[in-house]
Amino acid sequence: MSIEQTPQAFETLNPIDEARRQIEICNACRYCEGYCAVFPAITKQKTFGDGDISQLANLCHNCRGCYYACQYTEPHEFALNLPGVLAQVRQDSWQDHAWPRGAGQAFHRSGVAIACAVIVGFMALLLAVQAIGSAGGDGFYATLSHNAMVAIFVPAFLFPVLSIGISLRRYWAHIGGQKVTLGALTQAFGDAARLKNLSGGHGEGCNFEDEDRFTHLRRIGHQLTMWGFLLCFAATSTATVMHYVFDLPAPYDLLSLPKLLGITGGVLLTLGTAKLAWLKPKGDRSLGDTRVWGGEMAFILLLFVVAVTGLVLYAATGTAAVPLLLALHLGTVLAFFLLMPFSKMVHGFYRLAALVRDAQQK
Ligand code: SF4
Ligand code: SF4
Repeated sequence: MSIEQTPQAFETLNPIDEARRQIEICNACRYCEGYCAVFPAITKQKTFGDGDISQLANLCHNCRGCYYACQYTEPHEFALNLPGVLAQVRQDSWQDHAWPRGAGQAFHRSGVAIACAVIVGFMALLLAVQAIGSAGGDGFYATLSHNAMVAIFVPAFLFPVLSIGISLRRYWAHIGGQKVTLGALTQAFGDAARLKNLSGGHGEGCNFEDEDRFTHLRRIGHQLTMWGFLLCFAATSTATVMHYVFDLPAPYDLLSLPKLLGITGGVLLTLGTAKLAWLKPKGDRSLGDTRVWGGEMAFILLLFVVAVTGLVLYAATGTAAVPLLLALHLGTVLAFFLLMPFSKMVHGFYRLAALVRDAQQK
């Protein structure tokens, strides 16, 4: 294939082939070597199989620094747009390795409609369970019994664990991953916890919003979202241990561990997702995967609604609004978990796998 390209030809190419063409140009140029983890990984190879391209795509965090620095973007005949084509390959890698595969393809085509239908379906189910009078307990259990919650939530939680596990296993085989060592895991988790690769390589942050504007806003938004989500998860896990191990069922006081973790997590998640939703329209859409821009935005907003309804529900405790708010909050939480393997949320798991593989190759 020629390294020259026209915009018309760009649109008809397979993203993997187009990414290979662009990466081979970068490997000869090497101007962006210090920008991120992608370029040092490129320079280790002379040829790039499909698995190598997928791995590079999942290492890229779409900061766009290489696009704005590049002398070979349009109108140059090479027509480089590395962030854009890697975003497409990345999206395709999640879809191709998804389990069940058909669900990944369906979500790729109509993610927003599916998410809305799942939320409405779960809300209807929860309201129906409330209406047939299964409640019996204190706090939220006076509206929806503990047993009903467990019966609905356990399958909805186990499904994404199984689905993402199978999906990552397929991805790992595709990129030629080796036996995982403690050293590679430690390095990958350390980089992920600090979101090191969102620092822009030079420490000034991404220029996601514009060519000359470097900021840490995207890194901060991701940090707030990630730690907010993990704290909410820790709150649920703590409450489960208190219920089953120490025979201390909910409701809990404001100063209890589940409440402190949950409220802090909810506030961080609200701030983080609001920041990401505010930032997303400011970037040039053509430097991401334009096919799924709406679905990505819908997913950020779903996470925002999960966080806000959780906080509002807590504030509304004891009022007549609880049954509807509980159905709305739990409906969005259930939709979030069920759709996690096919939505943008899965990028965190793939990014972690790519960081482990990158640590193995160093
Ligand atoms: S993005 Fe452009 S400037 Fe950067 S390494 Fe590739 S070809 Fe060179
Ligand atoms: S967009 Fe950013 S992270 Fe992706 S390859 Fe370019 S410089 Fe690296």
